[in-house]
Parts: sequence; structure tokens; C-alpha cells
Amino acid sequence: MSTETTYAELTRWIQRVHALGTVGELLGWDEQVNLPPGAAEQRAGQQAALAEAAHAAASDPRLGGWLTQLEAAAGLTADQRAVVKNARKDYDRATKLPAEFVREKATQDSRGYHAWAKARAADDFAGYAPVLAKNLELVKREAGHLGWAGREYDYMIDKHDPGMTAEVIGRLFGELKRELVPLVREIAASKVKPRADALRGFSTEGQQVFLREVTERLGFDYNRGRIDVSLHPFCSGTGSDVRMTTRFKEHEPLDSLFSSIHETGHGLYEQGLPADQLGTALGIHAGMAVHESQSRLWENQVARSRGFWQCFEPRLRAVFPAQTAGVSTDELYLAINAVSPTLIRVDADEVTYNLHIILRFELEKKLFTGELAVADLPGAWRTAAAELLGLTPPNDREGVLQDVHWSGGAFGYFPSYCLGNMLAAQLWYRALALRPQLEEDFARGDFTWLLGWLRENIHSQGRRYDALELARRVTGEELSPRSLLRYLRERYGALYLR
Ligand code: ZN
Repeated sequence: MSTETTYAELTRWIQRVHALGTVGELLGWDEQVNLPPGAAEQRAGQQAALAEAAHAAASDPRLGGWLTQLEAAAGLTADQRAVVKNARKDYDRATKLPAEFVREKATQDSRGYHAWAKARAADDFAGYAPVLAKNLELVKREAGHLGWAGREYDYMIDKHDPGMTAEVIGRLFGELKRELVPLVREIAASKVKPRADALRGFSTEGQQVFLREVTERLGFDYNRGRIDVSLHPFCSGTGSDVRMTTRFKEHEPLDSLFSSIHETGHGLYEQGLPADQLGTALGIHAGMAVHESQSRLWENQVARSRGFWQCFEPRLRAVFPAQTAGVSTDELYLAINAVSPTLIRVDADEVTYNLHIILRFELEKKLFTGELAVADLPGAWRTAAAELLGLTPPNDREGVLQDVHWSGGAFGYFPSYCLGNMLAAQLWYRALALRPQLEEDFARGDFTWLLGWLRENIHSQGRRYDALELARRVTGEELSPRSLLRYLRERYGALYLR
């Protein structure tokens, strides 16, 4: 076969595998949004059958043959090489793990979740420790099977963020930590405090109207996506079928609004990927850090800005006249930008959130090097929380047992959140340098310049470049925490450190 024919066969097959994956995602979305309670078992069977078909397609020996031919071929374009390189990674992951290992891991993953849920309810870390130790052993073995022996944590990081390493993250987080810890302490000590009870009694119907208006104005295309309700907000799907979810709390209207805007950021990225390349490296996202940079940019830099609220405050007051009557513009803006250190990551504000991630990264790294034993995790967590957040968890439920991630072997995922925050801030200042009147656009309800710029520089690029290379290309600088620190100081300093 000619190189061109082989390349065409390869991409057709990759897109087929990807299509099966998106069907699985759709079933997963349906499970969280629509599934009748009695249908859980039947759905599990459907999911398993589909996963089997998807795995068979992803490990088809013809793929291996095409990849070998293309890797040896001269004259591929840079784009084609990127597609082949990414397909090789996927193919190796699908074929290099022994069937026995895959079975063992799948059993352990579902066992892990239940063990975690039970341990958390009973505040019993000791009962959970053997499960965690087993998870760690399994992911290390997985890394070994794929040729990453001795670099197991890097393998886990690379799974979520291609090209990223623990060494790079350690350097970036170290730099961030030095200035962020004192900044959080200063803000926490400020006399300025948001009114905790400022926003009460916001009907679900009103919230739905308002957030639909906001997300549509930001550019989410409801002709190619939708938003529904689930227990935990998420965004799935891609291209012309993006499914977001949110939840509504009557006394916390900002929770549903900002989580919807966050998911909108993810959704805009997925809607902006090149439609004809979906599934190949030219039509998938560049990794979790870049994905998170998109959600965070819209959620934080954009939607917590003065400009944004100049546009939407009048609308909020029009939809909720009684609820907002006693709240001044400044009180509203302070509630939107509330900072208060907490022990729980998912409740954390934008400023302290990063410290929760640094804490987890440092512990994960030590677990992988063996510097820290699983049994010593609770104590190490308490020490780190005191050092970073200035708070000591009174129990493990509010400490080491709070997150689900490790129970399913998802190590190396947490750093993406903080890397995403860094990239978001760096993109923000680059965008502002190119278009200084950005906030004036927002005040008029115009977000088209920013979306267009992201479409061109991030969304349409797919996975051509990893996060570090993308940062370099789009912002002209190496990825660094400097922009994030500048942004946090500017926005929160103005509010809390006057
Ligand atoms: Zn997200």
C-alpha cells in the first residue's frame, strides 16, 4: 500500500475507534442524567459489551501494521507525524497490557471505589490502606508493561498530560507555593469578608433562565450541545454533540452558575476542535491541563471580572429582583470573588485551590518514589495541610479520605488542575496584551474576540502540541506560575488587601 493509502486507512480506523468511545461517553452521560433506577445492571452490561468492542477495535493487528509502515515512511507532514505518534501511544496502551493484568485491574478498580466510600463514611483509613497500596502496585506494574519502569509517576502524569513530567511540575509548583502561601495567609487575615448569606432563595427556574443566557452569550452553541442536571457537574462529548451538566442549589446560586460556566469552557473547547479530524491527534484536546485552562479561563478570569458583571448584573437583578434587592454591587462582586481557606478541595475558592493540588502532588510523588509509605499518608496529609492551608483536618474524612481519585488508581491527575490555572492566567495576559479593551467588550456582552482567539490558537490545534509547547507558541513564554500569581494579586489584592 502507498503511504497515502495507509495513512487514510489508519485515520479511518482511528476515527472508528473514537466513535465507539463517544458512544460509551453518551451512555455514561445518560446514566448520570436519565437512567431509570432499575436499569443500572442492564446498562452495566451494555457498557461492558461496548468496551469490549472498542478494545477489540483499538487493538486490531492491522493498526499495528499500518503504524509500523508509517513510522518507517519518509515524507510524512508534521501533522501526519503527530497523528501517527498519538495513534502509536493509544495502540501500545491497548495491546501491551496482558489480559490477566487488565482483568485484575478492572476488578480492583470497582472494589477500590466501594472500599473508599465505606472508609470515608466510617473515617477508617486503616481499612482503606491495603486497597490503596494495591492500587499503587497495579499502576506501577502498568507503567512497567508500557516501558516506563523507573519513571512510573511520569507515566501516570503523561497519561493525562502528554509530555509533562514530575520534575517540571515540581519546579513550577515550588515556585508557585513560595508566593501563594503567604498571599493566602494575608487574604485570610483581611478584615474584608464576603457576606455569607447575601444570596438566598434563588429558584431553579430563574437560575436556569439566567445561566442559559450567560452560557449562550459566551458562545456555547446549543445547536451542537445541551445542558442538563446531574449530581456532579461534568462535560462530555465532542464536536457537534457536547453534553454539559450542572446542579441547582436554591441558596447557592453562584455554585450552579460558575460550575456551568466552567463546563462551558470545556464545551467551547470540544465544539472548537476540527470537525473532520475528530479522534485523530488533529481533532482531540491537548490533554487535561489545556482542557482545564479553557474551563478556568472562562470561569475565573472572564466570569469573575468587573467587565463581565457590568453586563450581567442588571440581568441577574431583573430575573431575581426580590433576592438581590438588599445586595449592593460591591457586596455581589465580593460574594463572586469570595476567598476563605477550607480543608475540602471541592469547596475551595480560586486562590486556595492551587494549594490543595500542590499538597496532593507532593504526596503522590513521595508515594511513587517510596519516600512515603501508604500507612503514613494521614499524618503526612495533616502536616502538609497545616503548612500549606494553615488548617489541620480534625479527621481523615476531611483529610486524606476526601477525594475519590486514588481509589480508582487515578494518580497523576490532580496536577492538571493547577497547571490549567497557570496556563489560563498566562493566556489571559497574552489576550489582554493583544486586545487591551477586552473587559470593555465583556461589559457590552461581547465575547467573540476572546473566543475567536482561543479557537484559532488553542481549539483548532487539537493535539499537535503538548501543553508546554502550546504555552510557548501562544504566549511567547515558557509555562510558569508568574501570570497566575500576578492575576491573583491584582484581582484579590484589590478586594482584600486595600
Ligand atoms: Zn474542569
